[in-house]
Amino acid sequence: MRVRPLIPALPVVLLTALALGCRQPAIPPPSLTDGDGTSVGTPELLGPGLWMVPGGGGNSAVFETAAGVVVVDPKFASSWHDLAAAIRTLTPKPVTHAVVTHFHDDHASAALVLPPEVEIVAHEFTLREMRAWGYLRADGDGPPVKTRGHTGFLTLFSGADGITLLSPGPAHTGGDSFVVFHRARVIHAGDVFPDTVPPIVNIEGGGDGGHFAATLRTIATSVKDVDRVITGHGRVMPFAELTRYADFMTLLVDYVGREMRMGRDKAQVFRALQVPPAYAGYRLERLFDTLDEIDRSLRPRWQRVF
Ligand SMILES: [Zn+2]
Repeated sequence: MRVRPLIPALPVVLLTALALGCRQPAIPPPSLTDGDGTSVGTPELLGPGLWMVPGGGGNSAVFETAAGVVVVDPKFASSWHDLAAAIRTLTPKPVTHAVVTHFHDDHASAALVLPPEVEIVAHEFTLREMRAWGYLRADGDGPPVKTRGHTGFLTLFSGADGITLLSPGPAHTGGDSFVVFHRARVIHAGDVFPDTVPPIVNIEGGGDGGHFAATLRTIATSVKDVDRVITGHGRVMPFAELTRYADFMTLLVDYVGREMRMGRDKAQVFRALQVPPAYAGYRLERLFDTLDEIDRSLRPRWQRVF
């Protein structure tokens, strides 16, 4: 769920560029010692040939197919060594594919250190962002990176090994993929459902608070034959929790749309929201930030930096 520091507003970029003689600040490559201070945890078996591996970044899914292993969200670059070791305790098969739910470093930066034969699969937007942030090897820096992009729907493999990637619209970022493991009746939601907490809406990364609830609801109503959901950072939950989370986001979006009228004080409005008892157990520490991100999402693009 981590987000890179915000890119400064345009005038600041221009002034800085002028002061530096128009040199673009270089984005440092992901560090092999960078992380969130947590360790790669013990794999949890979710169904035939499907495990969830927590810690060391976002929750990873490890899925064994006839031909090899698919990893969904391979975590920080610094966590790959431990995640690969955990996978070896489950199966001797090689990793053939890394599916990435979105471009944030705690889910995606291990792409830089994956074996070259691994194909990286993600939404086209996510692949573009991963390249921009330096999570894909540059051309000429070893063998070419194998990537496969999609723009909303992609099926991998067939029969019992079948996986479906779905991207109904922007939410946490501009290229979030949900990943359905049909055999195990499980879906990986990435950070569109990070845990029972208000989500980050990474507006600068294409996220959209105004569409967030609709994206969740499309998944909740259209995906059949799924019992459980792997969250971005929390526990594995019953699939019905995704509908409750969509309702929670609808509540927040409706509240901001109704209450944030011209001239009203944002801090006062956000603090006045009473979250109903239906969401007892939700940890609300970042509620203010999510409301602010929804507010900025609902504004015209030129007003979002304020
Ligand atoms: Zn994220």
